[in-house]
Amino acid sequence: MENIKFADLHNHTTASDGLYTPKQLVYHAHTKGLAAIGVTDHDTTYGLNEAEIAGKEYNIEIIPGIEINTQENNMEVHVLGYFIDYHLDWFQEALSRIRTARYDRARKIVDKLVNIYGMDLDFESVKEKAGGRDNVGRPHIARAMIDKGIVKDIPDAFEKYLGENCKAYVKRYKITVREGINLINKAGGVAVLAHPGLIGEDSIVERLVSYGFAGIEAYHSKHTTKQSRKYAKLSADKELIITGGSDCHGEGVPMVGDVVIDYETVNKLRESAKGLSRSFTY
Ligand code: AMP
Ligand code: ZN
Ligand code: FE
Ligand code: FE
Repeated sequence: MENIKFADLHNHTTASDGLYTPKQLVYHAHTKGLAAIGVTDHDTTYGLNEAEIAGKEYNIEIIPGIEINTQENNMEVHVLGYFIDYHLDWFQEALSRIRTARYDRARKIVDKLVNIYGMDLDFESVKEKAGGRDNVGRPHIARAMIDKGIVKDIPDAFEKYLGENCKAYVKRYKITVREGINLINKAGGVAVLAHPGLIGEDSIVERLVSYGFAGIEAYHSKHTTKQSRKYAKLSADKELIITGGSDCHGEGVPMVGDVVIDYETVNKLRESAKGLSRSFTY
């Protein structure tokens, strides 16, 4: 195994709905012996600065990333971005608009939970779960509900109250898949189709891969071995980069490093991003 370097390209931190601070995430990646990690918080790059500082300390390469929930015909499609120039003002403004929609919608869901079920819940305690930041989503509502003893865990909360088929569910504004890819490309990054196995419909996946993705996340903690093989093959057939990541959200499973990919993939993504940024001028 010596000299083989590995990367986990999909991780969340407290900047979105992860439980590890960026520094804690990097520390755990270090204990797993990883060479690089992608920090891919939902709709925010807020954790990247701290992750990069910790990366220098622990000698781990931090790939600046993002995960954007987009939609295609009412289906939720997650788009990962890597090697983005995240300091760009217009990019930050675009992310801020997405977060605001998520925040407003979380507030509406809490109102409904209180009104429909008489739940002992308030938006302040939900916001606290997001560290007081503007990136409030359903996982934070779930955690506030766990604290109050209303549900036993996050899946329980989604099943009973927060999922799409639940009474308190509220739709939110999402950009389209193509808009998501464009946003990432214009910021100098490459777009990767996240966990296609979770979209729930392979006919859509076949179509999506032609939209301008540089890669497909074939390896993911929620993919079965069969799914991983299928999407790795699809990726290879389309001459796209095969990526993988744990989708670690902190303590418990999946843990950072539970799904890894050869470090060479990082170089491929970097090269692909370089090719892109040359074709854009601001
Ligand atoms: P939101 O962006 O507020 O709509 O919340 C979506 C996030 O909630 C996803 O990105 C997942 O991290 C998490 N999530 C969605 N469905 C479930 C589920 N059934 N169980 C646990 N977490 C979920
Ligand atoms: Zn998440
Ligand atoms: Fe996702
Ligand atoms: Fe994720």
